[in-house]
Amino acid sequence: MRSLTLAEARERSSLITVTSYAVELDLDQGTEVFGSRTSVRFTCAEPGAGSWIDLKARSVETISLNGESLDPADVVVDGRLPLEGLAADNELVVAATMAYSHDGQGLHRATDPADDLDYVYGHLFLDAAPSAYACFDQPDLKAPYDVTVHAPLEWTVIGNGAASKAGAGTWTLATTKPLATYFMTVCAGPYVSVHDEHDGIPLGLHARASLREPLERHAAELFDVTKRSFDYFHGLFGIRYPFGEYHQVFVPEFNAGAMENPGCVTFRDQYLYRGAATRDELLTRANTVSHEMSHMWFGDIVTMKWWDDLWLNESFAEYMSHRCLVDATEYTDAWVDSSIVRKVWGYGAERSPSTHPVAGVEALDAQSALQNFDGISYAKGAATLRQLIAYVGDEHFIAGVRAYLTDKSYGNGTLADFLGAIETASGKDLEAWSRAWLLTADRDTISVDVEEQAGVVESAVVRREAPADRPADRPHAFDVAGWTDGRELGRVMVTATGPETTLAELEGTPEPSVVVPNASDLTWARVRLSDATVAALPSQLGQIPDAQARAVVWSALIDGVHGATVAPEAFLDVFDAAWPLETNSSILTRVAAYAEHRIVPYFVPRELQEAAMARLNRAAVGLLERATAGTTESLPGPRLVAGTSDDEALLRAWADGQGLPAGLEDDGDFRWIVVRNLSARGLIGVAEVESFRAKDDTLQGGLNALMCRASLPDADAKAWAWEQLTGRQGRSNYEMVHLARGFWVAPDDSLVADYVPRYFTDVPAMSDWVGEDALSRVVLVAFPRVFDDETARLSAAAISRDDLTPAVHRSLVDADAELREALASRATFGAAV
Ligand SMILES: [Zn+2]
Repeated sequence: MRSLTLAEARERSSLITVTSYAVELDLDQGTEVFGSRTSVRFTCAEPGAGSWIDLKARSVETISLNGESLDPADVVVDGRLPLEGLAADNELVVAATMAYSHDGQGLHRATDPADDLDYVYGHLFLDAAPSAYACFDQPDLKAPYDVTVHAPLEWTVIGNGAASKAGAGTWTLATTKPLATYFMTVCAGPYVSVHDEHDGIPLGLHARASLREPLERHAAELFDVTKRSFDYFHGLFGIRYPFGEYHQVFVPEFNAGAMENPGCVTFRDQYLYRGAATRDELLTRANTVSHEMSHMWFGDIVTMKWWDDLWLNESFAEYMSHRCLVDATEYTDAWVDSSIVRKVWGYGAERSPSTHPVAGVEALDAQSALQNFDGISYAKGAATLRQLIAYVGDEHFIAGVRAYLTDKSYGNGTLADFLGAIETASGKDLEAWSRAWLLTADRDTISVDVEEQAGVVESAVVRREAPADRPADRPHAFDVAGWTDGRELGRVMVTATGPETTLAELEGTPEPSVVVPNASDLTWARVRLSDATVAALPSQLGQIPDAQARAVVWSALIDGVHGATVAPEAFLDVFDAAWPLETNSSILTRVAAYAEHRIVPYFVPRELQEAAMARLNRAAVGLLERATAGTTESLPGPRLVAGTSDDEALLRAWADGQGLPAGLEDDGDFRWIVVRNLSARGLIGVAEVESFRAKDDTLQGGLNALMCRASLPDADAKAWAWEQLTGRQGRSNYEMVHLARGFWVAPDDSLVADYVPRYFTDVPAMSDWVGEDALSRVVLVAFPRVFDDETARLSAAAISRDDLTPAVHRSLVDADAELREALASRATFGAAV
């Protein structure tokens, strides 16, 4: 299917102005297809000219343009319906039959195995709108919507405008404000709901019927964050939320975290934690609630003119959600979470050859814009906005944001418009600043050189190094702090505008054991810890009282392992000593997961992994013994024990519900961690996995069972899993990802080695039937975990193929970069752990 180009979009928006859409969807035509009737009114600036409307239908029944019928046979080519001889004012009516999707793009339909009930939701980002209704699908052709939905009698319908029942099985949605095409959504099914109201805004939370219990259990917390975020953004932006009701719908098999459809935000329904949730999991969800809400202003009221400014939406929402959590909720440590979750992700994107400038990357068509929608857009963009605020002042930044939102309301904006508003508000020229920070890829390395004499600092110098191949002169504002035995010995604010900045304030002070550049994590840079600091961390890190600085240290260690400057063994030494003492929930959970799923399997040679896992297990047992039920420490400990233990008796007892740590007695998700470990070790087989699935016959249970079966260490299980993953078996996006997660788990490489070459042919071929967004995830997760030169050779050959789709190519480049990091680290430090 052709992707809309920027040139085409410009030409079409110079000709066409859309007045309104009336969309009628018939969701009562069975499980495969739905009816879609679109009536669109639009003007044409040059009467007599031609254009086209986007339409990705299974079949087209009737077409009428200005009252004249067109023959629907064979008229739509490549998803485009040509429109010739347009009048000044036009009405086009298209009746078509569309297919439901199963890859999370378009109108997705899923069956809940818990009760066999079906659910539908629309996810029309980025170019899936024409698979639901006929439209001029580009972000700058906005129009108000009137939507009617016919659905089975027992279904509930939710959408952008307030829904009301117009008759048996028929629902009408209130006329919306002008919306971009990709924001239109309808969620329909036997959803269960909880309602509330705040400041005149009706609120709704919705989920599958089988999730009624967690929905009701989490509703108070969700509404609380929702209300606080509304108050905060109303105050900050000075513009009231304009889209009427505010619904948050937790939907199945959602590819991303959530989607900011005006009035009807969709979330992945794993956010309704079935079992015990850690504080950082609640923080992550609160962050997503706030993130999507901030988009109501930045993204929805004002939309980027073209996809190349998508980053600005995401950087802004990423920044605003953290700010909102810190200022207006109990999650005052949201920036700590950002350091160890979001920035670790972003630094990974920055290390890959696919890295790119935050802004100004030419997106010549819609699909190529999607390739730049990554950790750079979110995490680096948000860090860059924090540096912008340090540069112009918060008051001026907010004044500029308000002016931008007011000037462009219900229209579109560009980066130039946004920066122009900040320049006007601050009186500062941002040309050089934006060239260095926004338009140049990669990051500086910052470090601190300390010279001491008898334990007293003689000199301390901050070094700032730009990458040689991407020179830039980025001004940084950040702090440097040092500790010995938990005592902070000095903290200095630095404005680094050159390669060296002397910290005169520290001269003559006692030399700290640990020195942390960027201790408050204000800037975006590779933080290089000194050798002396790394050596001191096992005894020192657990004593540092500043969680933000600890997160920066962990992030720097992870970055260092990936960059082959920190040995995996050094990381594990710090882990053993400091992780069990950790009190911040985000650090505890994320560092454990990173150690178990990335550091050991990627960077530790295969023959040493068992011993490395045993080290993680010892640390986890230590935490488990120390933690009291219901505390921050009480979940990551048992989870890591469950994932790493080789104690068959313990694992079997936990799987059978015996002797479980307090609070985990009825936790189906915890049981799956145990069952996964038992499966990977070959201690149980298919029949037992299926018996655990029977105890948890839900969407989540089915996915976990697939992952467990794929991880069984025998040739038949691998052959079955590979066929399920790559063999066009009708598997959903989530099922494919879970199969891929389990597949490469193996006690030795020989069991899976034959699949390495097959990966490079079978997985790219899936682009024939799997959408780009879903497939990009599969390519990453299914990438071979056989870390050797042969995999690297095959990977390089695959990347140079010219028949890959953009998403497959991009994910291969990123997975290949991680493979090469693992090989480089093993070559440098391979011998011991
Ligand atoms: Zn977003």
